[in-house]
Amino acid sequence: MKAIIIGGGIGGLSAAIALKRCGITTEVYEAVKEIKPVGAAISIWPNGVKCLNWLGMKEQLQQLGGPMEFMAYKEFVHGQTMTRFSLDPLIQSVGERPYPVARAELQDMLIDNYGRADIQFGKRVARIEEFDGGVRAYFDDGHVAVGDVLIAADGTHSVIRPYVLGHQTERRYAGYVNWNGLVEIDETIAPGNQWTTFVGEGKRVSLMPVAGNRFYFFFDVPLEKGLPEDRSTVKADLTRYFAGWAEPVQKLISTINPDTTNRIEIHDIEPFMQLVRGRVALLGDAGHSTTPDIGQGGCAAMEDAVVLAVALQTNSLGVEDALLRYQGKRAYRVKDLVLKARKRCDVTHGKDMAITHSWYEELKVETGERVLSGMRETILGGPLE
Ligand code: FAD
Repeated sequence: MKAIIIGGGIGGLSAAIALKRCGITTEVYEAVKEIKPVGAAISIWPNGVKCLNWLGMKEQLQQLGGPMEFMAYKEFVHGQTMTRFSLDPLIQSVGERPYPVARAELQDMLIDNYGRADIQFGKRVARIEEFDGGVRAYFDDGHVAVGDVLIAADGTHSVIRPYVLGHQTERRYAGYVNWNGLVEIDETIAPGNQWTTFVGEGKRVSLMPVAGNRFYFFFDVPLEKGLPEDRSTVKADLTRYFAGWAEPVQKLISTINPDTTNRIEIHDIEPFMQLVRGRVALLGDAGHSTTPDIGQGGCAAMEDAVVLAVALQTNSLGVEDALLRYQGKRAYRVKDLVLKARKRCDVTHGKDMAITHSWYEELKVETGERVLSGMRETILGGPLE
């Protein structure tokens, strides 16, 4: 069996490694010549970590992950701790730890594990068609690829999604802007072994440790879409949005490098239940685009990859049947993740400030039990318990 994989991001490469591991021939086509991930880092939760472990990258991932042992929320004016707890009960109950990792390093790990020379960079698919017994992909440069199955891991702006769904989808603006980047760990800003989040005014500032003594930081601010802001204005913008916030936040703003700070207007797509058509499967953001509020978009792509590979490997009724089983296992799961993230997004970002204020009050009496139990439920919904 030969699989054509469109997209060399987290989803496409996880799928390529998974299929290869299951003895399926793969061809990976990536539109750009050099992948530049949209964010600085990503938290891989234990459900995603287990997928990468299954794909043979356990030790490598451990080298990339930051030592995130604790989690804390702080109020925004004085930086006083509202709650702080260990992540260990979560780790013990799900059997694996989370790893915040720099995206470029994750991307390199995936590329190297698949084989850099085997990825066809600079190949943008324009359209696809099925024929009796196979599927063809047509590329902008005139190249045509033929396979038994096609995996569309071409991201949130997927050109293959309309083929599968039979209609276009709209991206929905989630109502906030996210700035993110990496800085050297500074313990006067936050402890180096903790996921620290300052909250107030429907905004947040968060820091997570990644390997190499670095913090992955992000700032979220509810804002209208399309403001004329970019890297050249980032310090002034953050200084304005976070005026009056605690000293560690001011220090973080003064420390960041605008040239490597990303500014992203956060979107998702209304979940849909159809992930496959014939011999074509959507995977990763192509099949489910979520806000990053529970840090599960990339993890879900890794889950998709494992489930799809196993479905294709273990089925003897043919590709179409295997893909339908993949859809059956994934559609509810990914819909649930997108909607959970949307709900979290609204509470965090003050869609209704009364609800957001109640959440701040809850944080002051949080022991960790409630937060960790929500995470545990999400994590244990993955395919590898
Ligand atoms: P992409 O990463 O978008 O990759 C798609 C690839 O396909 C790209 O390389 C693109 O160039 C290529 N492509 C596109 N069109 C074509 C074409 N026509 N032909 C060929 N190739 C094509 N997830 C987590 O799990 N944890 C987190 O902490 C987390 N934090 C996030 C923070 C932010 C700010 C954002 C925006 C997202 C976050 N996510 C997180 C989500 C995660 O980044 C995505 O879910 C993940 O990157 C999706 O991977 P993908 O491979 O499906 O898509």
